[in-house]
Amino acid sequence: MAKDETPEEIKRWFLNAIQRLWPIAMGSVSLRKSPCIREKCSACASGIGHSSYALSGYRGNRRFSVYVPEELAPDIQKAVENGRQVQDLMKEAGLRYVYARKRERLARPR
Ligand SMILES: [Zn+2]
Repeated sequence: MAKDETPEEIKRWFLNAIQRLWPIAMGSVSLRKSPCIREKCSACASGIGHSSYALSGYRGNRRFSVYVPEELAPDIQKAVENGRQVQDLMKEAGLRYVYARKRERLARPR
């Protein structure tokens, strides 16, 4: 982190850093148990049931949960990890931006 970086330099650093973080998603991927539509299903009758992956989380204060086919689960998991990295980068960018703006303010003649 350069001590005298400008807001423009932080922007370039940020855009460059998030460029490799695609795909992104927020929330979490988990296995959930769900019933099936078959009659007399032995798995359901025994209580084992069926599990499927889901991406879930909050949008504002509304919870969402969306089915994820098993073959896509690793990709969606990766997207969630990328999403967390983007959040970390946003936090860092915000702090660096504040410092840069304060330096500009002090450097400006009154
Ligand atoms: Zn079943």
